[in-house]
Amino acid sequence: MTETAPNPDSAALSFASLPLAPAQLANLDQLGYRAMTAIQAAALPAALAGRDLIAQAKTGSGKTAAFALPLLQKIDQPCFAVQSLVLCPTRELAEQVSGEIRLLARAIGNIKVMTLCGGTPIRPQRMSLEHGAHVVVGTPGRVLDHLEGGSLVLGRLATLVLDEADRMLDMGFHDDIAAIASRCPPLRQTLMFSATFPEDIAELASRFLKQPETVKLASAH
Ligand code: ADP
Ligand code: MG
Repeated sequence: MTETAPNPDSAALSFASLPLAPAQLANLDQLGYRAMTAIQAAALPAALAGRDLIAQAKTGSGKTAAFALPLLQKIDQPCFAVQSLVLCPTRELAEQVSGEIRLLARAIGNIKVMTLCGGTPIRPQRMSLEHGAHVVVGTPGRVLDHLEGGSLVLGRLATLVLDEADRMLDMGFHDDIAAIASRCPPLRQTLMFSATFPEDIAELASRFLKQPETVKLASAH
């Protein structure tokens, strides 16, 4: 496509078509997010409307913002309880996701995002949790350790995200995910993201998502 070619989708791909606050639109612009990626355009309207969602798109397609914007939108800032939980397969991914959520949260205010992964002492994490957090991003094993030990309480959880769900299943986290989901309030939004859609992903979705919108972009960019 050349620079001058008219793009019939340009309005549909504008973040301004979404119910986002002007401060968030300005923040997205500052971050260089000029237009939605295909997965963002397909997922954000339903996710911002509070629907459960299963979204399949390849790595690098912008899935993080597709769940970060909806979960941030719902945060009740004065309530210093964990309202969003994002499960990721690895510490590296959890740290990336935390970083992106923090950038998108700049538009909203003072949102505390905590990363909880294994391979690091649990006690300092427990002490930090005592001070409260709005968003927790972590790996399933460590998140479950905190739930079982009582240092993480999900009674006020509004959004559960399963990021890279196929990789989490490949790594053997199925039972940990199920145990975590069983400790989340039933009245919540669940967003599931995966690069592939094998049978066990469909099974996971049918167990933990309610009447989900399904978005599949086989060759998303
Ligand atoms: P995925 O989770 O699908 O692998 P990411 O959410 O990590 O993809 O996004 C990949 C990269 O694209 C990141 O560097 C992110 O900041 C950037 N990005 C995401 N959405 C947009 C957008 N709408 N415009 C420009 N860059 C974007
Ligand atoms: Mg991702």
